[in-house]
Amino acid sequence: MLKTTLDKESDKLLACVHCGLCLPTCPTYRQLGNENDSPRGRLYLMRAVAEEKIDISPTYHKHLDLCLGCRACETVCPSGVNFGHLLESARAEMVETKPEKLDWWTRVKNFFVGLVLKQVFTRKWLLNLVWATLKALQRSGLVSLLLKSGLFKYLPAIEFALSLLDKAESQLPKAKELFTDKNELINELRKGYDNDEDFKLAYQVAQFTGCIMEGLFTETNRATTRVLSNNGCLVEIPSTQVCCGALHAHSGFHKTAVMLAKANIDTFMPVTSKNDFPIIVNAAGCGAMMKDYGRLLADDPIYRERAKAFSSRVKDVSEFLATIDLRKASPINTKITYDAPCHLYHGQGVRQQPIDLLKKIPGAEFIPLVGAETCCGSAGIYNLTHPTMARELLTEKIENIKKTTAEILVTGNPGCAMHIGAGLQLAGENTLLLHPVELLDLAYQLA
Ligand code: SF4
Ligand code: SF4
Repeated sequence: MLKTTLDKESDKLLACVHCGLCLPTCPTYRQLGNENDSPRGRLYLMRAVAEEKIDISPTYHKHLDLCLGCRACETVCPSGVNFGHLLESARAEMVETKPEKLDWWTRVKNFFVGLVLKQVFTRKWLLNLVWATLKALQRSGLVSLLLKSGLFKYLPAIEFALSLLDKAESQLPKAKELFTDKNELINELRKGYDNDEDFKLAYQVAQFTGCIMEGLFTETNRATTRVLSNNGCLVEIPSTQVCCGALHAHSGFHKTAVMLAKANIDTFMPVTSKNDFPIIVNAAGCGAMMKDYGRLLADDPIYRERAKAFSSRVKDVSEFLATIDLRKASPINTKITYDAPCHLYHGQGVRQQPIDLLKKIPGAEFIPLVGAETCCGSAGIYNLTHPTMARELLTEKIENIKKTTAEILVTGNPGCAMHIGAGLQLAGENTLLLHPVELLDLAYQLA
């Protein structure tokens, strides 16, 4: 598989001039200073495996496994090496090959990741059960109590996992409370088309709700629907949609990713339908994956064309909102900053649209965040599988956020929201964390 991918990309690989421009942008290289933990070093290793010069050994596994898949290296590469695709193929081959002599911790980790991704994320009922259990735990107050008790102060990995769970929900309700007090008056939620004279139905869109977003960040999904509706969209939310498969593809479970991609294509683009309206996504990781279905299924004679058409319809919500006339929002008098999710900034090239959207909210003072486009360490499930590196990267991010003195940090990916939210909480910061559409939704609701 890796050999096939490398062959396909051989032009770009051979064009790699080993310039090293990617090195300073690579978070793992910056932390460790090891060439094998840099994009250039990892490319050498991949080529050596593809050319059968080395085996998939535990050392190879370690260096490829430590990559965040943040794709920051792609943004600066003058030769256009598509590192993300190569990494997916390399990981898929690692899963197929199952190298011997891996240490016990890596084996246990791989086993559980495979079990959860392949058996739970592919079954909606089971996934819903998991989300319901996590929500019940959050709402019982037990997690906050354990965190406040300080019992896990000397067990940082457990303390961080608890904090992640505590932050695995939308903070929009909290923001509403805070800003309702400040503004004293809050409008009734706009109901949409029927009772609003200004409203004109101008667009039709489909909304991808995702699995983690719908399970844990339900309120962010509702805010997305409201913002779209308030801006003239008829929003269709197909009930048979499934997980996008991003976590699977990034972890090397290629076949499961393909199966999920096909299920989503069948849902949003049944063969009998000629629909071509945008598919709106509010999670950067899902959007990047769905824009890639065309490549994922390029060799599938049945799905190839529909996959390409599907991917061309996928739009991040900020990307879509940038193309339409937005309804005027009420002022929110606060300081805000923005952290760019890697799979939006590097993966999709959607860079300015979220910032422009935030700048349209009157009263909100935008303060740029140093290192906004550098990975926070969340990277899907990386913060669970590589807690040490993930925490080191997060420490730098939290320090930069503190310097902005912003009251609200805005970011458009659930993994980043949980990871940064946990880091802020453990650092004793009260910064609120919102999705760009949540902030706009809040502004629409304030008087
Ligand atoms: S920036 Fe691109 S061309 Fe330069 S070393 Fe990195 S991968 Fe190769
Ligand atoms: S994807 Fe990110 S972590 Fe991996 S090599 Fe590229 S810059 Fe480094």
